[in-house]
Amino acid sequence: MKITGISEETGQIRIEVAGCNMRCPYCVHIKQPSEELSVERLLEYAAMSSTEDVYIAGAEPTLQKDLIPLIEGLHKTGKRIILKSNGMKPDVLKIALPFVYGFVIEIKAASDDISGIMELTGMSEKRSKKYVSLLTDSLSIANNKWLRIWIRVIPEYVNSDTVQRILPDLEFASEVMLYQFMSNPDFDIPFMGHDSPSPSVEEIEELAEIVLSKVAKVRIVGEGRKHLLQRR
Ligand code: SF4
Repeated sequence: MKITGISEETGQIRIEVAGCNMRCPYCVHIKQPSEELSVERLLEYAAMSSTEDVYIAGAEPTLQKDLIPLIEGLHKTGKRIILKSNGMKPDVLKIALPFVYGFVIEIKAASDDISGIMELTGMSEKRSKKYVSLLTDSLSIANNKWLRIWIRVIPEYVNSDTVQRILPDLEFASEVMLYQFMSNPDFDIPFMGHDSPSPSVEEIEELAEIVLSKVAKVRIVGEGRKHLLQRR
């Protein structure tokens, strides 16, 4: 399996998988160097740790042919797996279903904002339209598990006007994470003129209040801050 990193921090083993089927212009992950590690080696690494939780993220893990043998092996040894995905491979999520505790699925923009999705993902119009339908399938598969929807708040695409149109896609979410763009320089490359954290955390809190009308928990991750808002 091609990975860009494996580590253990904050009570979680993190496996960062290389390669993605999108070309998001603000993404650091698709530019990172990778190395090949066998499933056996990854299972050995996980077995050396008493940590139960394994987070498989990346770029896009569902593209790796070794993903299913890896999560099956981890599941057999009692690990609790959370799999992150951009939602483009519902067929793989379906196969993964019996072995994972939950999913983290990223939503880029409102599903009717095809031109926004094209700008955010670097994909053609045809592929962006296909993505919307694949994402819908992925979300309905993930409905059977714990599901965090991950939203990178880039002001031009996720704002008080558009977030209302994202709400229908949040139907199956256990929680939503709103991430302030550029608040972690290890995650983002400047985009649309934003080279510092934007929008403000206060603006994200306003978005969170709208999201709370649909989902009981919203996590905000922003400059120097992480907090959880819950429906009252
Ligand atoms: S931001 Fe996510 S979906 Fe986009 S290229 Fe990077 S890993 Fe892929």
